[in-house]
Amino acid sequence: LGLPAHFTALSPHSFLRLDAPEAQPMSNVFYRSSKTYPVAQKAEGIYIWDTTGKRYLDGSSGALVANIGHGRQAVAQAMAAQALKLEFVHGSQFSSEVLEEYASRLAQFLELPDYRFWAVSGGSEANESAIKLARQYHVERGQPERFKIITRVPSYHGASLGALAASGMGARRELYTPLMRGDAWPKMPKPDPQLSGEEDAERLRAVIEQAGPETVAAFMCEPVVGASDAALAPNAGYHARIAEICREYGILFISDEVMAGMGRCGAPLAVRLHDQVTPDIVVLGKGLAAGYAPLAGLMASPQLYDTVMGGSGAFKHGFTYAGHPVSVAAGLSVLDIVESEHLVGAARERGAQLLAGLQELQRQHPQVLEVRGQGLLLGVVLGDPTTRQAMHKAGLADQVAARARELGLLTYPGTGAVDGVRGDHLLLGPPLSLSGAEADELLGLLADALKVEG
Ligand code: PLP
Repeated sequence: LGLPAHFTALSPHSFLRLDAPEAQPMSNVFYRSSKTYPVAQKAEGIYIWDTTGKRYLDGSSGALVANIGHGRQAVAQAMAAQALKLEFVHGSQFSSEVLEEYASRLAQFLELPDYRFWAVSGGSEANESAIKLARQYHVERGQPERFKIITRVPSYHGASLGALAASGMGARRELYTPLMRGDAWPKMPKPDPQLSGEEDAERLRAVIEQAGPETVAAFMCEPVVGASDAALAPNAGYHARIAEICREYGILFISDEVMAGMGRCGAPLAVRLHDQVTPDIVVLGKGLAAGYAPLAGLMASPQLYDTVMGGSGAFKHGFTYAGHPVSVAAGLSVLDIVESEHLVGAARERGAQLLAGLQELQRQHPQVLEVRGQGLLLGVVLGDPTTRQAMHKAGLADQVAARARELGLLTYPGTGAVDGVRGDHLLLGPPLSLSGAEADELLGLLADALKVEG
């Protein structure tokens, strides 16, 4: 086949590296862990190649980022053109043509026509911004006693300290808990699919009452849970009731759509998958510029914007690279592709195909306890094949993910759901541009990876 000696044909879809050298060359890179990382060289469509020539099917779009696939010339050209025309201005001195156009296109796409776009560089920054905006809004309205942000366990809202304090994810918080002391971050339980959406949402009321309703600034949740609880979604009616309860208590409703948004779940706004609901703030990231540039941000309701601008007159917050013109140009070009290639509908269609395939895998592999998905945000929950219970120990998802990687499939294993219990799940979320044949290839590779564990 003309392949390097350490590649051996395993199945029509895949090649297994048997005796690849454990190369640990001297490097100046501060890696994320002590394991050996392949060095990525190039990417095209749904595939990434490393420097040994090995090909990987990007079954998780990195960390659910590469929504339009890799190697899009149009986006690269739009970024180059913007860099040549205007590479940077600071937000305290200028807006920019590209930011003006993008904010209005994004508002139309999300069907939030009068919302204001606040741009930043990553999801954690975007959630920090949402938390600070919620706090400032209440202060401007003469309610400075409101500061608490209610979130759920588990949840993941980011790695910076404010966003991490809001996150209900033991494994990622543990080391830093002394830095997050205080009563600012009350938590409510995760959605329970056994309850009706309305009953489930009603549980927020007790958390508000216990925290002291007059002290609560906002409730924030992922409409479809990502890294902390693979694609868990509440039943229809949940978000509508949450919005009602928040309104009743004068609390803001923040929808963190960093992972679930921008069409990945099969709707422009993930919080509107089942309910007609309008949050006060929608937080976006990842799919916005789909990996071509760092871009994230929030959409704020006119009421929030007007309160701050009509009050003190300025949002007391800012980052140097906020609204970077080259990132925003990437976002605009990505949005062109999402719209012209009808990728939101494609996410629904391919998502249904993959979910049906995962259900078939569940029938064949007893260690697959549950599969679920909304569009192309899909979860595979793994556990003990004999007891059919969650494994309260580390490792199963990591093992399957490692095996899949050997076979040439990238997945996103869960690293910690409920406090004290290792979440053994895989997130799947290929680019929305994935073809039907590529979806079948992904399923074939995953089936091979699961065989080893069966
Ligand atoms: N919010 C959600 C729902 C996420 O999934 C993530 C990242 O996984 C973040 C926020 C943080 O985004 P970032 O890693 O870009 O800071």
